[in-house]
Amino acid sequence: MRPKRIIEIMREQATGTEVTVKGWVRTRRDSKQVSFVALNDGSMVANLQIVVNPSLIDEQTLRRITTGACIAATGTLVASQGKGQSVEVQADKIEILGDADASFPLQKKGHTWEYLREVAHLRPRSNTFGAIFRIRNNMAFAIHKFFHDKGFVYFHTPLITGSDCEGAGQMFQVTTLDLNNLPRTEDGKIDYSQDFFGGQTSLTVSGQLEGELAATALGAIYTFGPTFRAENSNTPRHLAEFWMIEPEMAFYDIKDNMDLAEEFIKYCVQWALDNCMDDLEFLNKMIDPELIERLKFVTTHDFVRLPYTEGIKILEEAVAKGHKFEFPVFWGADLASEHERFLVEEHFKKPVILTDYPKEIKAFYMKQNDDGKTVRAMDVLFPRIGEIIGGSEREADYDKLLKRIEELNIPMKDMWWYLDTRKYGSCPHSGFGLGFERLILFVTGMANIRDVIPFPRTPGHAEF
Ligand code: ATP
Ligand code: MN
Repeated sequence: MRPKRIIEIMREQATGTEVTVKGWVRTRRDSKQVSFVALNDGSMVANLQIVVNPSLIDEQTLRRITTGACIAATGTLVASQGKGQSVEVQADKIEILGDADASFPLQKKGHTWEYLREVAHLRPRSNTFGAIFRIRNNMAFAIHKFFHDKGFVYFHTPLITGSDCEGAGQMFQVTTLDLNNLPRTEDGKIDYSQDFFGGQTSLTVSGQLEGELAATALGAIYTFGPTFRAENSNTPRHLAEFWMIEPEMAFYDIKDNMDLAEEFIKYCVQWALDNCMDDLEFLNKMIDPELIERLKFVTTHDFVRLPYTEGIKILEEAVAKGHKFEFPVFWGADLASEHERFLVEEHFKKPVILTDYPKEIKAFYMKQNDDGKTVRAMDVLFPRIGEIIGGSEREADYDKLLKRIEELNIPMKDMWWYLDTRKYGSCPHSGFGLGFERLILFVTGMANIRDVIPFPRTPGHAEF
């Protein structure tokens, strides 16, 4: 008989029936007559209590029911007398499926996040990480559902790329050349024509450029895949490998783009509220007592929409009144997370979409405004996170785009295929990128991005 998952047992509440459950022992507590075993099978945050009567189970088996062990328990499901659970299993048979060595690293409660990262291969077996990864799964599903229901095409862009126009200096190189014996050209440079792809390649920092090709064919698309950035930023908001969702839409202007971004995030957060309440309540209790309130707030309030220039004014006024920022505030400055969070958390107390940034601090492909100084960028700024989405209306004019590419000395040989979108049937279009882990940070209330991805990659770390 297929064992029932604990979530089914809790849902059905079929007291009086015989059940078999399989899972991992979280804790064991012995009283005079019986032992109470908290069993978790990952299907939900709650443990199922297994009541073990030592007179029914042989001594050898009893001894092997330790924290971390995998067991199968068979017995009658009964209403629980104890508080904290509705039903429990009165076990008459226990089978040890896998013993846990006494060195099992998740013995105690209250391990530090740093310690848990060192045992990232086992931390999914803790309540908190179980909750986080179930929510992460739900968010991935919600994202596909949101776009699928709108008729967007899920489009797969390559992970290995030959162009380095976007992420110059922060890309991971991909090569099969022998690093100890590199082929050289006559002028002493590395001869990439002998490399696997016949040229220099890297891991992608974004699927956007290929996404634009797709949008100008299929109308509206999104990508959802891993991206890689070798930026050496040791912050709680950056990973070297992270997942990104990048919708790209023909015939959307920046306003349509903002509307979509706002609707999209609200949909995802509402999805969590509707489908992950057990896990959210657990995190609200254990991690952040304002979590659920914050999620509800975001789904029910309009995001502020504000030009960058206005944002700088607000920040300058704050500085004049004595507010201290680590980084300077002036028109033209790239905003740091402290500035973004000031606008969101202290000034507006709401999510903010900042638009029309100076062109110098934004990418070459953003649509140039008539003022000659700003571009039609839009960043969505969130409480506790700062930037969660970065996007823009794209420059659709071939000549303007080409001029910008030349001004920035972006190698043209890499860009011919991208420019073709503007050469053949160019159209107004827009898109944005949502960092998946930043969304998970927001929805779980966790403080460090390394704790919302199963196996984080950061400078110096690629274990597991
Ligand atoms: P930031 O200024 O925070 O470094 P960015 O401007 O480099 O971000 P974009 O290139 O606009 O980011 O990427 C789109 C989105 O991807 C960001 O809004 C953010 O949510 C996410 N993101 C960017 N870099 C990282 C990273 N290193 N780790 C995790 N998420 C990231
Ligand atoms: Mn950005």
